[in-house]
Amino acid sequence: MRQPLVAGNWKMNGSRAFAGELVTALREGVSALDRVEAVLCPSFVLLPLVAELVGGSTLQVGSQTLSEHDEGAYTGEVSGAMLLDFGCRYAIVGHSERREYYAETDRQIAAKFAAAQRHGLTPILCVGETLQQREREETESVIREQLEVVLAHVGVAAFQKAVVAYEPVWAIGTGKTATPEQAQAVHAFIRHVVAERDSEVAEQLRILYGGSMKAANAAGLLAKADIDGGLIGGASLKAEEFLSICRQAS
Ligand code: 13P
Repeated sequence: MRQPLVAGNWKMNGSRAFAGELVTALREGVSALDRVEAVLCPSFVLLPLVAELVGGSTLQVGSQTLSEHDEGAYTGEVSGAMLLDFGCRYAIVGHSERREYYAETDRQIAAKFAAAQRHGLTPILCVGETLQQREREETESVIREQLEVVLAHVGVAAFQKAVVAYEPVWAIGTGKTATPEQAQAVHAFIRHVVAERDSEVAEQLRILYGGSMKAANAAGLLAKADIDGGLIGGASLKAEEFLSICRQAS
């Protein structure tokens, strides 16, 4: 049985005061749920504070990206070792905003995935197609390519300690959610691509949906066989919304 996972990607939002209020509002409610694993992914500067605030609760902490390098002269970068040292357990890699605005390539994302695991962090690998790619019926080929570059770099066994998130680019921050059927079809395809290499790894792999997921549409998505949780953007900034999604996943 795959344990449901709900991760909140705060993106470039928040402040010390905001983090304090949000974590205080979530701690008890999330800790009362026995099935779901809940992860908060604040910006780098808020990470040490959030890691401290979640202490004694079941909430976990993740980063939104990390360096593919271990240490050295990489101005502005943050390593996996530093993240682990500050209490991180997860690292998002390959988010579409990193791919689009910071020109991250599949190869670089594969290197970040490997760097996360080298330092004991669980990567949450994001994949997803743009609207134009979907309209051209390229969804499966795009997602296959995004997965296969990473699979070729790290090997399928590495996916035993990883999470995949399907985030259709056209659904991120747009209010447009994939229908449960659209999302399920892609999740099943992702599992199939991994199963081509190792069916047991594929069976255990948690695949999250992300893209305008909120309390009001979570149930339909989470009811699908291959949807094991959510990667939540905007709705993760509101305690009631995030808690409701966690409850529905549990
Ligand atoms: P929204 O939930 O705001 O659409 O963002 C999704 C996302 O990008 C999570 O990583």
